[in-house]
Amino acid sequence: MNFFTFTKLKRTLLMLTAVFWLGCGGDGNPSNNNNGGGTDSTGNNTTHTHTWGEWSITTAPTCTASGVETRSCTQGDTTETREIPQLTGAACYYGGAPNICGKDGTADSCKKTEIGGVTWLAENLNYLLESGNSWCYDNDETNCDIYGRLYDWETAKTVCPTGWRLPDTADWNRLDEATGGGGSRNEKLKSTSGWKNSYGESANGTDDFGFSALPGGVFTYAFTDGPFFQMKGSQGYWWTITERSDGRGDSRYIVAIGLIIGGGISDDGLSVRCIADN
Ligand SMILES: [Zn+2]
Repeated sequence: MNFFTFTKLKRTLLMLTAVFWLGCGGDGNPSNNNNGGGTDSTGNNTTHTHTWGEWSITTAPTCTASGVETRSCTQGDTTETREIPQLTGAACYYGGAPNICGKDGTADSCKKTEIGGVTWLAENLNYLLESGNSWCYDNDETNCDIYGRLYDWETAKTVCPTGWRLPDTADWNRLDEATGGGGSRNEKLKSTSGWKNSYGESANGTDDFGFSALPGGVFTYAFTDGPFFQMKGSQGYWWTITERSDGRGDSRYIVAIGLIIGGGISDDGLSVRCIADN
């Protein structure tokens, strides 16, 4: 499955909307040629060579059903669809890969650690919901095996297993206090391997509390020519459930040099740590 295409769905729909505004009722370019098998005519019986836009996913495939993707002629006269194969293999987990944190919507297979009286997952969630948006870094399943999945904010709010929840800002503040705060806290939360700074030098932590933060990177729409996967190996990003005053989702970034409080664009893909309800 092409996850990257999926992420572009919203923008593509916006573009298609614009095309329809421009294209409906247009004159069309008379032509004897048809491109891609389409033979539709415009409203005034002229035909033209279809100029197809990009395929975009209209129904995402799941582990139990195939999906559909659609493309439209840029002149707005016709669309065509094709099937996207049902998801299979490691992406679906069931009956498959062991030790997937969040498998089947439970935390049974997840590592856990208690910090300041609160039980946290000690690894990033790696559960593929049947709905919602999530990605493996670079769309590479092996990255999900290492870092867990990157979820958009809406999906992150619902992905924690039964009996667990997405932490809020106060939960992260309590974690901060319980681990000593300040610059040293960051070293105590990072795993003892896998981290490099921007110079490519080792920047591992001491993992004093078994939190084992990994630099899973982010899938971000922060750049106009994006979205991009970036920062794997040097930064980790986690959602909180708290909404900021600017409407963004509050998030926590652990980078090679410190912990940063930031706001994620809700479509961005970030890692998820859940905490126990009690
Ligand atoms: Zn056309």
